[in-house]
Amino acid sequence: MSKVERKWFYLVFAVLVVAIVAYLGYNIYQQQVYPTVTSIKNKGVLVVGTSADFPPFEYVNQSGAIVGLDIDIANAIAKELGVKLVVKDLSFDALISALQGKQVDLVIAGMTITPERSKVVDFSVPYYNASQAVISLTTQKFSGVNDLKNKKIGVQTGTTGESWAEDNLVNTSVIPESNLFHYDKLSDALLALKRGDIDAIIIDEPVARMFVRTVSGVQYDFGIYTGEQYGIAINKDSKDLLNLVNTVINNMKNSGQLDSLVQKWFGSG
Ligand code: GLN
Repeated sequence: MSKVERKWFYLVFAVLVVAIVAYLGYNIYQQQVYPTVTSIKNKGVLVVGTSADFPPFEYVNQSGAIVGLDIDIANAIAKELGVKLVVKDLSFDALISALQGKQVDLVIAGMTITPERSKVVDFSVPYYNASQAVISLTTQKFSGVNDLKNKKIGVQTGTTGESWAEDNLVNTSVIPESNLFHYDKLSDALLALKRGDIDAIIIDEPVARMFVRTVSGVQYDFGIYTGEQYGIAINKDSKDLLNLVNTVINNMKNSGQLDSLVQKWFGSG
């Protein structure tokens, strides 16, 4: 190689190294920043995390698709962003860490807005009111908390139903701690109920009403007023996304679209 050639070689080599370092750095930077309206539009997809065992908010239908009231709201948000919707099905307990780990852009999963969760994520304006309820097999009937004395109770891990049971059944000695059974999926709690491993399940009241309509041999025992509100969870650093989501929800409320969706998914029952 002549002197001139060598000079060129080094120059091209240096430019390449700078380009590669810049490219890698940009990629790492992109992975570290939280989703914004612009980054989602650039990606062309909105990735929503849910836990599809919670009818009629999100569940897997007979054709294997994840559908429900929450999925319709997610579609409205994707439409507003002008991007495609991708739904990731995770266990409920894994949703907030998936959001923090940026595996999903937002979480819509019948998630109650709580002070503890609000410390780590932002919530949209509320879109649905709920409380808790007790369901059991039709072979036994519970009318109130006192009837649950020493019974075996199933709850879903990481839910407000689980916290309610810990505070109001275990900590008050209505049941021993070993009688509280925790399940990742509500479907597993239902199987345990059917097998007779547990006597009752504490779950969100609207979902309890749906289960007793669709799962044979299961009945609604009583409701527990907890005054919960569902919100969409978003990273604390994604304020522009939060604003967009709030606008979509408020528009759906004002136009009556949210009421129609509730009617569509709950019917008249
Ligand atoms: N609303 C309850 C909660 O936020 C349960 C939600 C669910 O199981 N999908 O904990």
